[in-house]
Amino acid sequence: MLKLANVSVNYGQFQALKDINLEVGQGELVVLLGANGAGKSTLFRTISGLSKPVNGEIYFGDEQIGGKAPHKLVHKGIVQCAEGRKLFPEMTVFENLKMGGYVFRSNKSLLKTELEGIYDLFPILKDKRNQPAGSLSGGQQQMLAIGRALMSKPKLLMLDEPSLGLAPLIVEQMFTIIEQINSSGTTVLLAEQNANAALQVSNRGYVIENGRIVLSGTRDELFNNDQVRKAYIGA
Ligand code: ATP
Repeated sequence: MLKLANVSVNYGQFQALKDINLEVGQGELVVLLGANGAGKSTLFRTISGLSKPVNGEIYFGDEQIGGKAPHKLVHKGIVQCAEGRKLFPEMTVFENLKMGGYVFRSNKSLLKTELEGIYDLFPILKDKRNQPAGSLSGGQQQMLAIGRALMSKPKLLMLDEPSLGLAPLIVEQMFTIIEQINSSGTTVLLAEQNANAALQVSNRGYVIENGRIVLSGTRDELFNNDQVRKAYIGA
């Protein structure tokens, strides 16, 4: 579904991504592991069109999408749920979700179906639908951010550190929900520092260090890799 071939990205003189080769197959849940500053967010920004590669190609299906405008990529089904959530805090939960569905704004019945699906996945968002997004807890805001991303029926959902700053119990719930989203048919690319939990729900993964992919493998291969255990699992 998604394929990056030799993609490099610079910030001025600084090379943030170096010759990235990465694939995500239809229906997969692929995890991208990396420390702070390794280049995970830059990689996501590049796939969603916010940063332009200086080299290499990005394919979504058969189409080369590298350098295309972000709103065009959303229409094609590539949707990113950003780190830090970026909700509209003064608007209600419902209004935030509605914004996520702007792609289908003229199709009221589809919007309604999507909204119901999201309320099924996150019942707390239904309970709090008339409250301002800014009044929700950190975990609820993260759920709302994911719900808003799902409102546009993405083919590929990219989640940037969804567990960041959440209490352990909520982290567990978050990964269960990510697994459910994936098993209901959405392909997921997940950037995480919480390697243990992320690998458990994933099919495959990549490790990024200093802008380079240094390792890739199946979930079990990465779990059993000494380098991964030492650097990201701590066992
Ligand atoms: P984090 O989890 O902390 O966000 P990350 O793995 O997502 O880390 P990036 O944010 O992609 O990493 O950053 C990769 C590198 O690029 C870092 O060295 C960072 O300092 C640098 N960088 C990121 N954005 C810019 C920018 N706008 N201008 C210059 N350098 C940048």
